[in-house]
Amino acid sequence: MTDATPDPDTRSAVHALADVRDAIGRAAALAGRDAETVTLIAVSKTKPAAAIRALYAAGQRAFGENRLQEIETKWPTLADLDDLQSHAPALHFIGRLQSNKAAAVVARCAAIHSLDRPSLVDAIARARDAAERCPDLFVQVDIGDEPQKGGCAIADLSALLVQCRDAGLAVAGLMAVPPVGVEAAPYFALLARLGRDAGLAGLSMGMSDDYETAVMLGATHVRVGSALFGARAPH
Ligand SMILES: *Cc1c(COP(=O)(O)O)cnc(C)c1O
Repeated sequence: MTDATPDPDTRSAVHALADVRDAIGRAAALAGRDAETVTLIAVSKTKPAAAIRALYAAGQRAFGENRLQEIETKWPTLADLDDLQSHAPALHFIGRLQSNKAAAVVARCAAIHSLDRPSLVDAIARARDAAERCPDLFVQVDIGDEPQKGGCAIADLSALLVQCRDAGLAVAGLMAVPPVGVEAAPYFALLARLGRDAGLAGLSMGMSDDYETAVMLGATHVRVGSALFGARAPH
């Protein structure tokens, strides 16, 4: 810890991090998987820089944000963490992405989990050319037929993957947010099958309420917010 007297929220986030890591380890062991193959993304949207700093000090490296504006206001105050390149925090963009913000996100983020439509493929490909770098890309699938959440329809997935390939964009895997209030396992299993069929290794699935199930069903990236940082105020 860099802070001698962390506030209670910060302290509990560090404890929660240990608990979530343990739970991932247990779920991976049950599934006969190596826990090292699961990346825990600490979803820090709406949470203060101090909480991020505390988790960073506890060894957490991957952080999730869903708004460019929040990235641009909050993360510059954490720029000192970038000093050691090999230990720099990795920002994962997990929110709806407007094409006109693709360039900034491509320049700043280690991964984008919400690639879901042809216009965004074009925008990311242009941004990749300009920035001469490309984040890891996950194609978001509308797994529960809820278009308001974003994600490409299952029926459109193959065509979108072909478009990515034609644009020279390597796709790391698939991402989904299952419907709320129902058992998530069938949706995770479906996403895993779609990924297998497409020959993609990455699976970004599982949030605070269901990340253990997701790990048992093959998640390579779990996106966990409130289980680490506490409940969010609505925004
Ligand atoms: C906010 C968010 C999460 C984290 O949700 P929790 O339930 O707080 O763990 C994960 N994925 C996406 C896409 C999100 O927007």
